[in-house]
Amino acid sequence: MPRSGLFMNRIEIYVARLASELVSPSDFDTPVLPRNIVHAIRNVGALLSKRDGNGKYMCVLCGKKGLTKRGLYLHLIRMHGDEIRDLVAREGERILSRKKIYIE
Ligand SMILES: [Zn+2]
Repeated sequence: MPRSGLFMNRIEIYVARLASELVSPSDFDTPVLPRNIVHAIRNVGALLSKRDGNGKYMCVLCGKKGLTKRGLYLHLIRMHGDEIRDLVAREGERILSRKKIYIE
């Protein structure tokens, strides 16, 4: 597997950990990814984290309910890896273009 493939695999794992609250956003960081991608992973993780009202988690991408933390984590990686990588890539670009306009 090429190196870039490994990094892309990690991105969906990071997002799934955040979405299922196995890791808190403030604890998530990695020196191997660009800053905009780290921020994108945090944003997409928060977007995909939702409770279904019964104390369980639901999948924002397909509406599946009644998932445990571990269940949501595995569901996101197995069923939505491509979508998650796409969301992170687009969010990363959005953050980058915003930074070009409003220099922070
Ligand atoms: Zn789903």
